[in-house]
Parts: sequence; C-alpha cells; structure tokens
Amino acid sequence: MNNSRERLIQWLRDAHAMEEQAETMLSTESGRLEHYPELRIRIAEHLDETRQQTVRLRECLTLLGSDPSAIKDAVAKTTTAVMGFFKGFAGDEVMKTAMAAYTFEHYEISAYTILIAAASECNEQQVVGILSDIRSEEEAMADWLLEHMPIVTGQYLVREESGMTAKR
Ligand code: MG
Ligand code: FE
Repeated sequence: MNNSRERLIQWLRDAHAMEEQAETMLSTESGRLEHYPELRIRIAEHLDETRQQTVRLRECLTLLGSDPSAIKDAVAKTTTAVMGFFKGFAGDEVMKTAMAAYTFEHYEISAYTILIAAASECNEQQVVGILSDIRSEEEAMADWLLEHMPIVTGQYLVREESGMTAKR
C-alpha cells in the first residue's frame, strides 16, 4: 500500500472496529451500573451516539468509493490491550469503569484526529466534516466524565462507608 486514499480507507475500517468495541463496552457498562443513574444515563446516551458513529463511518467509506459491506472487523487488539490494564482493580468497579471510559474516549479522540488529518490531506472535505462531528461527541463525553469523576468518587465512598453496595 502506497496510496494515501487506501490508507485512509484502512484507518476508517480500523475506526469502525474501534466503535464496535466501544458499543460492546458501553452496553455492558450501562447495564451494570445500578446505583449510579447519572453515569448510567450518560453512558447509554453515548451508546446511541456510538451506534450512529458506526453508521457515519460507513458513509465515509461510501463517499470514498469503498464498499462498507466488505468490512470484516478484526478484533481490535489495541483496544483490548488498553482495557486489560484496568482489569486489575477489584471491588471498585464503578471507578474502574469511569477510568476506562475516560481513557477510551481519548483513544477515540486521537484516532479521529489522525483520520481528520488524513482525510484533509486527501482533500475529502465532506469526510473531514463527518469525522469532526464524531470527534466533538467523543470530546463532550470525555469532558463529562472528567467533570463527574469527583462526584462519582464521593458517591462511591459514601455508599461504601454506609455499608451499601458501592461497586456498581
Ligand atoms: Mg466513538
Ligand atoms: Fe466515544
């Protein structure tokens, strides 16, 4: 491969695999957080956005003349490795979830920053527009998580001290 357009198409497919991984993670997390309704609702909202992002990535592939139905999503190994880092924490699942979600959003932000630069290099302005919209959603999610992390931490500690279920 020596063509920038082909490279862009390959990276869009990687992003598609990343979003499918995100969908799995977010749907698991939103299903488990019983005692943190604010976090659960925000994660569920982002799950909807994530599903739309997958559709929009397919649109980008179509715009580039690549058949999106040909996508065969390989296991996103990098993503799995990033998430594996958090598996070591026990008993404080909600905190682990918040950290993992915040980390994952930044993984996505970096992926879209690369994609936007590549699409711009290929003079694909419509694709740049779609990818910029998606990146804004990832940034908004990351901002929300950071802002709410102290609140969730407080809720966790209060629940734990009161002998209530705190981990989720
Ligand atoms: Mg995403
Ligand atoms: Fe995201």
